[in-house]
Amino acid sequence: MRQFHVLLMLCALGLVIQGAKADNYPRNPGIDVLHYVFDLTLSDETDSIEGHATVHVRFNSSEVSTFALDLIGREARDSERGMLVSAVHHDGAAIPFAHINNRLTIKVNPTPTRREIRQYQIEYEGVPADGLIIGANKYGDRTFFGDNFPNRARHWLPTLDHPYDKATCEFIITFPAHYQIIASGLLVEKTDLPLSDMRLTHWRQQVPISTYMMVIGVAEFAVQNLEPINGIPLSTWVYPQDRQAGFDDFAEAGKAIAFYSEYIGPYPYRKLANVQSKTRYGGMENPGNIFYSERVVRGTRSNEGLIAHEIAHQWFGDSVTTSDWNHIWLSEGFATYFTHLYMEATYGRPRMVEGLQRNVRRIVAYRDRHPDLAIVDPRIPVDEILSANTYQKAGWVLHMLRRIIGDEHFQESARAYYARFRDANALTEDFQKIVEEISGQDLDWFFQQWFYQPGLPVYEGHWSYDAQAKRVNLTINQVQTDGTFYVMPMDIGIVFDSNDEPLIKTVRIDQRENTFSFPVEHEPIDVVLDPNTWLLMQAEFKKE
Ligand SMILES: [Zn+2]
Repeated sequence: MRQFHVLLMLCALGLVIQGAKADNYPRNPGIDVLHYVFDLTLSDETDSIEGHATVHVRFNSSEVSTFALDLIGREARDSERGMLVSAVHHDGAAIPFAHINNRLTIKVNPTPTRREIRQYQIEYEGVPADGLIIGANKYGDRTFFGDNFPNRARHWLPTLDHPYDKATCEFIITFPAHYQIIASGLLVEKTDLPLSDMRLTHWRQQVPISTYMMVIGVAEFAVQNLEPINGIPLSTWVYPQDRQAGFDDFAEAGKAIAFYSEYIGPYPYRKLANVQSKTRYGGMENPGNIFYSERVVRGTRSNEGLIAHEIAHQWFGDSVTTSDWNHIWLSEGFATYFTHLYMEATYGRPRMVEGLQRNVRRIVAYRDRHPDLAIVDPRIPVDEILSANTYQKAGWVLHMLRRIIGDEHFQESARAYYARFRDANALTEDFQKIVEEISGQDLDWFFQQWFYQPGLPVYEGHWSYDAQAKRVNLTINQVQTDGTFYVMPMDIGIVFDSNDEPLIKTVRIDQRENTFSFPVEHEPIDVVLDPNTWLLMQAEFKKE
């Protein structure tokens, strides 16, 4: 997703609690949820939903006597907000459960055998306080949109609500027939129910995904089917009032699918719908049906970067998913950098450089507010993981990695990482291992300094020309005072004629104070650091 309220979010990050382990989700290695079926009934008369969920659980151990799902409960006895569970069934019989502190604990009886798969049915109802957003859209029309990131599926779906446990899912949704519906997976049934104005639709998501991406969108939509891309059906779903503007805005989504499919590997899902919605984000990358903020549809085709970002997520974030919230850069940093790659391939390198330079300003502003936070930082709570560090800085780190290992090895690494972790989970170390295998280089120095230490290098220096010796002499000092130190290759551009490409010399900055000297034919008119924009830094450099 791409955040709207950057300032708000950056302020929130000021509240980070030192030393707390942020991703403290109570994992249960004894079980693995394989599949969910969510049978929900929606209504125009009430915001209350009736739910019937079937959860397919595999037991990895015979030691499991209970397990818990996340489900936000009733706030108060007389409130309708939150979910009230009326029964849990296994094998047709009601079984004991407890629904306390938003955890639905289910008793496992008899003792399971290892690898046994059981199905549990949960009956519940209530008004979702969040997660399924029910209410008026910007035109005052009633809509229902799932918006689960990062841990809000539990407001309306009883789930193991953490990305480490992916599952396949089905939605069986019954709703007033004047609406249209889009949901995770493929439509397998659509029936107008007799003697009522209700319609039932059944959707099946056959590739495992995270609970934060299991969604439905129910609204009055204008729907346009576009030319399939590589056999993948492509469609646009927008509010009828925004019909032409929305169809225009999303018309070029196919270009991004084609580019990423070629660069990374086959598109992971069986459809792609671009959907105008009430998500709180600029866009939310739900697999196969990306939900965009209702505000971004303007008919100006100015959303190409946003669309390219959300489509990149289908590979990175959706198909390859972090297994720990503090490695969310594997989602946002990849989507940010692959958008730059798409812009470079589509419009040329200057367009990418423009984007990277814009990103530097965000990264520096973030560093100024949070001088001690690294990209992978276990102190950051889950609701504050979206930041200039996990988006723009991580994107920049991928850009620098590309320079270190070269274009071919970079692309090969992205392809191998996707091939190996497709429909699964990964951590930063998994990506590092693949890059090291492909490039044949030990890259621990690079990963350690860029992902696990804060900030960025700050360089100060000067150059001079020695006419007698015909040499250019440079001093480059690394002067940041936050206790960090970076070892990096740096291109030096020696400019003799402003109309020509500069002469490039590559040096290694591995000391606090570094001096270099190059023989030249005659006096240059300028010497510049990193002329081709390969290094994330702040620098002041001038003629002595
Ligand atoms: Zn994103």
